[in-house]
Amino acid sequence: MLTEVEALERVLAAVSPGPVEHLPLLAALGRYAASDLTASVPIPGFDNSMMDGYALLAADSRAGSKLQIIGEQPAGPDHQLHCAPGQAIRIFTGAPMPAGADAVIMQEDVDRVGNTLLCREPVEPGENIRRLGADLCRGQIMLRRGQPLTPGRLGLLASQGSVEVAVHASPRVTVLSTGDELIQPGTPLAPGQIYNSNGIMLQGLLTQLGISKAEARHCSDDLTATVELLRELILTQDIILLSGGVSVGDHDQIKPALLQLGIQPDLWRVKVKPGKPFLFAQTTRQADGRPVFIFGLPGNPVSSFITFQLFVRPTLLRWMGASETTAIPVSVRLMADLSNEGDRPHYLRGEIQNGFFRVQGMQQSHALFALSQANALLRLAEGEKRHAGDWATALWL
Ligand code: AMP
Ligand code: MG
Repeated sequence: MLTEVEALERVLAAVSPGPVEHLPLLAALGRYAASDLTASVPIPGFDNSMMDGYALLAADSRAGSKLQIIGEQPAGPDHQLHCAPGQAIRIFTGAPMPAGADAVIMQEDVDRVGNTLLCREPVEPGENIRRLGADLCRGQIMLRRGQPLTPGRLGLLASQGSVEVAVHASPRVTVLSTGDELIQPGTPLAPGQIYNSNGIMLQGLLTQLGISKAEARHCSDDLTATVELLRELILTQDIILLSGGVSVGDHDQIKPALLQLGIQPDLWRVKVKPGKPFLFAQTTRQADGRPVFIFGLPGNPVSSFITFQLFVRPTLLRWMGASETTAIPVSVRLMADLSNEGDRPHYLRGEIQNGFFRVQGMQQSHALFALSQANALLRLAEGEKRHAGDWATALWL
């Protein structure tokens, strides 16, 4: 059986970023830049005032000196004023610096009588001036390929005059829940039935990654139905997320269905708890030669969730062109002793509170309530023992 590290390597080796598209800035929020971008407009775009005050020559600003105010420059069109020795120009935050002036004195540090300015505090040359290009120069790389388009970066692109940006496409994903016992929430339960909770949970995980249009489908534990549905989905989808039916039970139809479609899984079963029955397969769509990735997630809700985090999330991020695909590690201290007596690494679900990690509720793979209370995972290797108060690395969910 592959370790979870080997399994992830094998999955990621199969995946490369999807096609590039140009989107209006706001539509690109949460996507990943498809190329390095260089600045064409520096920040600041010109020398300007950091304060409401008076532009002058610093050498004229000794305490007690009197200057003549010769004009006013608000933020906006440059009035092309010139400040000579002995003169000052009323100026406001963001206004272009008048020629000749080399500093701005704050309005709180002067007295004004008519058009005469009396300085109370001297200023240094350059004081209260925001210099052309001090934050970002023309020609400087401002966004790297694979970085996420955050609100701050959308603002940065707008500051360059851009209205759109090249990003990697978002994959077409279908969540396919399998199982004769499943019914959709909103209808009454008959004995033996359960509501399909993996469907919406996986759609939620996808939405958190910016994939909000994933369709949810259901399939019974019937070989022919499974084959037909998979055949249909392969025609249009980039990624198919199956839940359930990948174990070794007589009613687990995913492997037989894939084999009937001529698809040999790349991997099946991983040395990890929960999530051992995880399956990964790929095929090529005839119509456009594009790869289609198929993930078989175990049906138990916690196993589905964990295998999504371990294998599907990094795949989706790579597909969307992200340069960073690993989960966010966070240093924590353990609230209690922890040990893993089993023969597989165990991803414990827990809660980080005030820097401490505490295991949350039942740790069995069906324990959806306990999972719903967790905000982090903690990996314990097989045979590992940790003590209360130890430092450890958890993964933020
Ligand atoms: P399976 O992997 O199909 O053998 O399913 C393992 C367990 O997960 C069984 O108890 C199923 O009833 C349960 N299960 C499977 N799919 C879902 C689902 N979509 N929502 C909630 N529980 C599920
Ligand atoms: Mg099943």
